[in-house]
Amino acid sequence: MNLLQNLTENFPYRQFRGEQERILERVMRGEDTLALMPTGMGKSLCFQFPAKIQSNLVLVISPLIALMEDQVQKAQMLGISATYLSSSIHREDRETRQKRLADGDYQLFYVTPERFRKPEFLEAIQKRKLFLLAVDEAHCISQWGHDFRPDYSRLGEFRVLLGNPPVLALTATATPAVQKDILCQLQMETSGEIIFGGLERPNLQLNVHDVYGFDEKIRAIVGLRHQTKGAALVYCSLIQTLKKVSEELRRLGIDHLIYHGDLPGKDRRRNLKSFVTGDGPLMVATPAFGLGIDKENVRLLVHAEMPGSLESYYQEVGRAGRDGQTSQCHLLYDQDDVSIQIEFLKWSHPEPSFIAKVYHLIKDNRGPLDQEGFDYLRGQMSFKNRRDFRVESAVRILERWDCVEAADLPFPYLAVREPTQEMFDSENSESLLKNQNQKLYEMVRFATRNELCRLLQVYEYFGYTGSARPCGHCDVCLSSVADMNSGC
Ligand code: ADP
Ligand code: MG
Repeated sequence: MNLLQNLTENFPYRQFRGEQERILERVMRGEDTLALMPTGMGKSLCFQFPAKIQSNLVLVISPLIALMEDQVQKAQMLGISATYLSSSIHREDRETRQKRLADGDYQLFYVTPERFRKPEFLEAIQKRKLFLLAVDEAHCISQWGHDFRPDYSRLGEFRVLLGNPPVLALTATATPAVQKDILCQLQMETSGEIIFGGLERPNLQLNVHDVYGFDEKIRAIVGLRHQTKGAALVYCSLIQTLKKVSEELRRLGIDHLIYHGDLPGKDRRRNLKSFVTGDGPLMVATPAFGLGIDKENVRLLVHAEMPGSLESYYQEVGRAGRDGQTSQCHLLYDQDDVSIQIEFLKWSHPEPSFIAKVYHLIKDNRGPLDQEGFDYLRGQMSFKNRRDFRVESAVRILERWDCVEAADLPFPYLAVREPTQEMFDSENSESLLKNQNQKLYEMVRFATRNELCRLLQVYEYFGYTGSARPCGHCDVCLSSVADMNSGC
């Protein structure tokens, strides 16, 4: 098969990017593959392509409903008959899609792994011959990854239920341990090959600044904003900090948008749209903002608070400079922020009884929830510690389990089904916690290590064995040039 000819005839692209062609050679031969490719490089093409040019179904596993909606739209624009199933769709519509699936409709079908809990979905999908099972964001399979998702780790089982179709696993961020785990869990240790599409984003100029306290952060953000025109993103881990940053920026007369989970759905959508269509907007957001958003020309990306792992960090900076043009990334590292992440970890695995109580509050208290939002939940769970994020964690976990779903209401979640014992059991928190602590340690090490180029530090972490050279632009590279000059 002439892959390039098929590409130019069926897609609006003139050539393959990165390792797309090598990956597709394997995929079209029905061989198991784990593909590692940087964010924005075009991983989706590796499953859109077979969906478009052959007649059997391509099933894509994806972690987030928001991502699926976006991807389905893009696939449809490419002329692929695509859709997704999730609990956010009305029952009638869901049943129609399921029936069409069973009847042989659709070339590309997206689900979250939790969908496999539904017997009616299993029944429909088992009527189809799968050309490919694509596992997007495959690092979610592994406990050693930064975004472990219990249902992802059952995909090996599901593959068997689907009649053992060929697998394509895709991710941008997998350490060597995670790569090994993906192969093992998807039962492709012997059949599968890893194609390393590189991690290199040489257009990103990574910088770390030591700062002390909030005021210094604001000064840094304002200074960086003045230096860099064009679209900019400032990430805050905490909504609390985000609100404070926004308040200060407003006081200083700096135009900006905000985006976070406490914001009603309609405001979120409006701000997202203004960001995507705006002329050089500044967005202050939590890191969830940006996932799957295709804004090519983000020129400045500031982390006002340190992420919890190098995987998150690299994924987030990867949202800058997707067009390949030089882009500035700045991490404002305040030693005190490490404690925020430690607390995040502490609070990110609430007890089953806690999660169950939050679920019932959401189910039975619409009125006060719509008025007071998360504050109502916090109040009901009688918090003493302002930085106790268990309520947020519980809602996030419930959303992941499909027990609550995003809704267009002032408090943007709706209770849809009771969590089960099986769900509680699947959160294996002790070893998860240990692993997440290790990741945080590596992130701190990155922020404080000043003798190796920032990009090379990232490559080293991900086991990249290519021949990358120091980037020449990050704070470490530039300070070594300055040292050399002053030595002359
Ligand atoms: P990833 O999943 O790797 O982050 P996506 O699959 O979302 O990236 O693709 C990012 C962008 O790259 C999309 O806008 C897509 O249209 C574009 N793209 C993919 N393949 C090619 C190609 N061969 N040539 C040009 N653009 C491409
Ligand atoms: Mg992708």
